[in-house]
Amino acid sequence: MSTNAPISISVVIPVYNEEGNLPTLFARLYPVMDGLGRTYEIIFTNDGSADKSSELLAAQHAARPDVTRVIEFNANYGQHMAVMAAFERVRGAVIVSLDADLQNPPEEIPNLLAQTDAGFDCVGGVRQNRQDSAFRRHISQLVNYVRGKSTSIRMTDQGCMLRAYSRGVVDGIVRSGAVNTFIPALGYSLARKPTEIPVAHEERHAGTSNYSLYQLIRLNFDLITYFSTAPLQIFTIFAMACSGCSFLLVMILGTRRLILGPEEGGIFTLFGILFFLISVCMVGIGLIGEYMGRTYQVVRNRARYHVSHILETRE
Ligand code: UDP
Ligand code: MG
Repeated sequence: MSTNAPISISVVIPVYNEEGNLPTLFARLYPVMDGLGRTYEIIFTNDGSADKSSELLAAQHAARPDVTRVIEFNANYGQHMAVMAAFERVRGAVIVSLDADLQNPPEEIPNLLAQTDAGFDCVGGVRQNRQDSAFRRHISQLVNYVRGKSTSIRMTDQGCMLRAYSRGVVDGIVRSGAVNTFIPALGYSLARKPTEIPVAHEERHAGTSNYSLYQLIRLNFDLITYFSTAPLQIFTIFAMACSGCSFLLVMILGTRRLILGPEEGGIFTLFGILFFLISVCMVGIGLIGEYMGRTYQVVRNRARYHVSHILETRE
């Protein structure tokens, strides 16, 4: 395949400690891509892996220099930054993203491309028979529900990374310069004609998930606060209702004091109310902090990741 022809498809894959999966991924992905009969490139971002992933990727680049590009981070910046770094460098007209652990079967790529060929500019996969722990599935359902209620994003399976985007959508994602990026939702919000298709989901081929509970919570918090200021507004309304009620209570207590004289036993009620109000304040401060933290990150404009080197054959 000539490297000078315009590239039709870019496949983007983040890699973090996937030495057990990469050989099988290569063996399954490249035949699928070759079988399409279209020009393509595959961009791997090695997100600071500590295992042999880097060597395996370099070997694959040597074996298929015509279609393989490798971006090497100096350290671990997370899956979404790894995808962003590749998005910033794609050359294809259509971009497909998938995970390196073979939970997203590469054999589904032609089905995604059928949708982009039909004119859809953001094609989301909906994982069938999801092969993750029950705990992960339940958290996912809950977050989907909250996101559905608090933002205008209508996606069935936001966590599925097997997706296809038009170049316009990907360029939009890159331009948005988002700091805490949740790429599937961002892509959806920029799409003109999004769609979804069912895709198979397999068990992790080797190794264990790279996400800890803490990272999952952070990621999902990012998702809600990035796309919506609803939490802030709901809190303000709630706080206003609380102050209204406490004002009423003060009036009632004051009146009782004037009519009935000093009363005993009210002190604990007061404590109860006080603690409640303090907790409301604390939630509010935390929420404001979330948005301020984000503003701060944008304002100081720190590099989101650092590329140590890139393996590619320039045309
Ligand atoms: N990944 C990454 N950087 C990280 C964590 C994960 O690039 O810090 C990659 C990982 O190699 C895989 C994908 O992101 O290709 C999804 O990760 P994982 O399978 O651990 O997540 P899960 O499927 O459990 O959501
Ligand atoms: Mg996985």
